[in-house]
Amino acid sequence: MHGKPLVYFDSAATAQKPSIVIQTISDFYRDHYATVHRAIYELAIRATEQYQQTRQKVQRFLHAKKREEIIFTRGTTESINLVAYSFGKAFVKPGDEILVSAMEHHSNIVPWQILCEERGAVLKVIPMNEKGELLLDEYAHLLNKRTKLVAVNQISNALGTVNPIKKMIQMAHEKGAKFLVDGAQSAPHIPVDVQDLDADFFVFSGHKVMGPTGIGILYGKEELLNQMPPYQGGGDMIEKVTFSHTTYNTLPFKFEAGTPMIAEIIGLGAAIDYMEQVGMENIQQWEAELLRYATAQIKDIPGLHIVGQAAEKRGGLISFIIDGIHPLDIGSLLDLHGIAIRTGHHCAQPVMDFFHISSTARASFAFYNTKEEIDYFVSCLQECIRKIKN
Ligand code: PMP
Repeated sequence: MHGKPLVYFDSAATAQKPSIVIQTISDFYRDHYATVHRAIYELAIRATEQYQQTRQKVQRFLHAKKREEIIFTRGTTESINLVAYSFGKAFVKPGDEILVSAMEHHSNIVPWQILCEERGAVLKVIPMNEKGELLLDEYAHLLNKRTKLVAVNQISNALGTVNPIKKMIQMAHEKGAKFLVDGAQSAPHIPVDVQDLDADFFVFSGHKVMGPTGIGILYGKEELLNQMPPYQGGGDMIEKVTFSHTTYNTLPFKFEAGTPMIAEIIGLGAAIDYMEQVGMENIQQWEAELLRYATAQIKDIPGLHIVGQAAEKRGGLISFIIDGIHPLDIGSLLDLHGIAIRTGHHCAQPVMDFFHISSTARASFAFYNTKEEIDYFVSCLQECIRKIKN
């Protein structure tokens, strides 16, 4: 990049791909390509097998009870929209309440707003403090008999906070509310066990776990998914169609209308194999070490403020602002050194409003990053600050 080796610190937006993922997708298109489900010829049977294997891999990756509980979608955003639409239609009535937290990504706010507007329900917000920690006492007060669902991220993309999701799920269940975990920033970085969490729904995106774009996952408890109406109508999701009446397919197909994203699903399978080979515990440990190393180096830079300082565990990202310098200028100057960081509101405008800022600079790490890259980033950052201030 600009004649320098790339330092990629934007994995919270999307992750780079291991060769095996690219190879698997191109092999599939070149040598094994066919549709799934519908055909009896060998090529399609093999494609169907490979595609179904991914469902099992995701089941294992999330420690789900059954593979029927794994629904393929286009991404976290579509998974949340699916739940908002289908769960909403089945369970949400006027006067009911949906809870989200003050640190959600827009994709975990807007679908619930749309649902609440349509059903006459009320959206309520679990507040946070200046460190970027959710206020659990306030959460306990907000939960009540009218709360139908709580939707909260496990790790915040804007602040790095790791939320105490297991406890929050337990608290929701005590009041009879269901819980959706936005795992977009946790599935790529920490081991996830949906049964241990007792999550009702867990969603994530393939492109952040080293897989391709255009594929995402919705995990849902079987008994809930069975009670929810389909999200879209079309091929594959039906059992029998007549002009007077249609009956629907069983799980997971009821929620997968149309020809699926076959190559992307197969690519996701390769990505999950790869992540498991590296080991989610190893990934978690290394990223924690990178975070500790980077934080120690940048925290004393004069005028630099880290936005999001949760005392408990934090995810591998640092959101920061520097007095008198616009984050956009920091991002642009670092780019000239070959360093890719994200600047902006990170699709979390309410978080920015809370801190009375319009944007931050965000460096986010993945297991393929190194301490040498952090050293380079810190020295370039200091140089950029000197340049702008002089
Ligand atoms: N939630 C969180 C916490 C995220 O970080 C993101 C992606 N930045 C999303 C949801 C949306 O994911 P996608 O754009 O892949 O659907």
